Amino acid sequence: MKDYIDLPPIIIERGEGAFLYGADGKRYIDIIGSWWCNLLGHCNPIISNAIKQQLDKLEHIIFANFSHMPAIELAEKLVTILPKGLTKFHFNDCGSASVEVALKMAFQYQGQSGRGYKNRFMCLNGGYHGETIGALSVGSMDKYSACFKPMLFEPIRLEAGDFDATEKIFQKYGKQTAALIIEPILQGASGMKIYSADYLKHLKKLCDKYNVILIADEIATGFGRTGKMFACDHANITPDIMCLSKGLTGGYLPFAITVTTDKIYDAFYADFKDGKAFLHSHTYSGNPLGCVASIAVIDILTKTTVIDTATKNAVWLKKTFEDTFKNHKNVSDIRSIGLINAIELVEDKASGKSFDKSKRIPYNLYKKALEKGLLLRPMGDVLYFNPPLNIEREVLAESVDIVSQILDGK
Ligand SMILES: *Cc1c(COP(=O)(O)O)cnc(C)c1O
Repeated sequence: MKDYIDLPPIIIERGEGAFLYGADGKRYIDIIGSWWCNLLGHCNPIISNAIKQQLDKLEHIIFANFSHMPAIELAEKLVTILPKGLTKFHFNDCGSASVEVALKMAFQYQGQSGRGYKNRFMCLNGGYHGETIGALSVGSMDKYSACFKPMLFEPIRLEAGDFDATEKIFQKYGKQTAALIIEPILQGASGMKIYSADYLKHLKKLCDKYNVILIADEIATGFGRTGKMFACDHANITPDIMCLSKGLTGGYLPFAITVTTDKIYDAFYADFKDGKAFLHSHTYSGNPLGCVASIAVIDILTKTTVIDTATKNAVWLKKTFEDTFKNHKNVSDIRSIGLINAIELVEDKASGKSFDKSKRIPYNLYKKALEKGLLLRPMGDVLYFNPPLNIEREVLAESVDIVSQILDGK
């Protein structure tokens, strides 16, 4: 907390596209897309306008036994872009909530589907799924969870990419496991780590074989971030449950959806006396403003060339990262997918020696970048870009240039 004395919060007055403008008149490039949720630029006129129109019609209603056209239209549009078979929608209000819903839904599904409850969960090492107790339990980042360990349940952990070990763990624990939760292809918070589409296919097969519900947390990867509409599309799989948030509204509003299949839905569809309903609601579930923002996002993604342009810029940016950082003495690894590019920093490339943590090198680079007008927020020793999909190439070039300067101590 004492860091805030040296570097007090920066007051931002307005945003436009990839830029933020401080109260002091300074311009910042938001290269991390407002913590990955800003998908199409700040104050995107189309999304802003959709919200303004809705604001004078209906701001919010109870979402139990009531609905509204924006929710219906959003569900209909999502069906057309989601992996085939994802047709049922549970609206909630933030990423962590959508993960809690997924875990509870999977657990209750197993209990109600006639085979008895299964009470374990599986997850991947290096995964991140949010900050609430369930989400934290299936996460693997000690930094956020260590002091809460006594409050958390213990999942079974798999190593992404290790096909054989994963299969053995399924053989051993598959019977008692309700669900496996993963970030498909890209593990964001652990430093933009990427695993193969083949491994994702392998997980899907094992889940089917052992009747384990596959939960794909696409909160960070959805809506074009990895170059496909959803990261699951890289492996052509349909998970049993998918969590959506962040880019869903373009980063405008706290809004999330847990999506599932008819098969799961049917296990909850029963007479009142059977008590099989999924009793989980949040006050702001199905908020109409969030719905219209999301509809606008899907329209932009499907009716304009934004994804094509982002794909072209991604090819260029990947090459630029490689040309600029590959031989840098402090860069041990470069990872790219979509417009997401990350570099892993070390004190010495040759020996692979890490920085002395107490020196807080990444934090100092963050401060240096801010001085130069770049909002870059390192995760551990990883510096990354995760900009809006419609960022311009010149802005990307300027950002690479700033990173290059700060790495060279300029
Ligand atoms: C951000 C994130 C979450 C948590 O979402 P919140 O809205 O911050 O609660 C969960 N999973 C992944 C993969 C995320 O990136």
